[in-house]
Amino acid sequence: MAFNFEHDKLVKELKKIGPKKVLVQLPEGVKKHSFEIEKLISDLGIKVVFSGQTCWGGCCVSIEEADLVGADLIVHFGHAKFIEVDFPVLYVEVRDELDLLPLLKKSLESIKNFKKIGLSYSIQHRHDLKKIIEFYHDNKKEITLSTQKGNVAYEGHIVGCQYDGLKEIEKNVEAFVILGNNFHSMGAAISVEKPVILIDVYNDKIEVMDGVRDKILKQRAISISKLKDAKKIAILVEAKPGQKFGQPELLEKAFKEQGKKVVVINIDEMTQEKLMNFYDVDCFIELGCPRIAVDDFSKYEKPIVTFKEALVALGKKTWENILETGFL
Ligand code: SF4
Repeated sequence: MAFNFEHDKLVKELKKIGPKKVLVQLPEGVKKHSFEIEKLISDLGIKVVFSGQTCWGGCCVSIEEADLVGADLIVHFGHAKFIEVDFPVLYVEVRDELDLLPLLKKSLESIKNFKKIGLSYSIQHRHDLKKIIEFYHDNKKEITLSTQKGNVAYEGHIVGCQYDGLKEIEKNVEAFVILGNNFHSMGAAISVEKPVILIDVYNDKIEVMDGVRDKILKQRAISISKLKDAKKIAILVEAKPGQKFGQPELLEKAFKEQGKKVVVINIDEMTQEKLMNFYDVDCFIELGCPRIAVDDFSKYEKPIVTFKEALVALGKKTWENILETGFL
């Protein structure tokens, strides 16, 4: 994997903004490049502090940390802008310089029965989009990019919690091709009903995501029924500015009216170790990244549901409504 930080563009932007001190946020896979990035920025006479926090997505913008270290700019690598924040942020959409041709060729076997393909890509591959579309056109495929909806930055761009853009084009395509990793294709597979094929650039393989949707939907139904039966509920409010999915007050009031005991917990980075100390909670409702409840179903001892699922348990939304409007 060869990352391209678009050095010239970065230097130009930094010279234009003129910060004195920056907080640099790097996704986990890019943290190994900290010395290279430090040199590049400090050579401009700018002081650099790296964030040691995990940086999962554009939702993780460490404003408090930047304030704490006295930075006047956050330089956020590897993701596109996801939310508006009240702090200057420079986004650097790292390019992954890969030869995609062998994998694209391999993908043709999995989509041989489909002509109309819906296409989405993770941000590191945006620079290759033209070539990818040309390749499929040359191979007699019609390509429709997922539309730009919600927090996604571009047409065709995919993030793990927003699949409305895929749902919108679903009626016009026969299958979806996702260029990225399992995280994105799994989210797609539970959000749309048409076949989803992953071009897994990190494991150098093609994966057909058959059966994923049914399996996950069964798990979600189990978690919702556990919330309905729970006597003691904890609502987890995520501290990250981009991970505020839902209204804790609404849930607290509604579940208390049902005679349940409810606590609200502010949390940053959910882990099983942190949650297990709240040992008498029967069910957690997390209002942070909805993928934690979904992807880590078997990792946590207690059931965890998302905001939308909690609304189903309360009877304020139906299961069918969730399936129709978007699961995450
Ligand atoms: S899926 Fe989760 S980590 Fe990714 S952008 Fe959405 S909230 Fe953030």
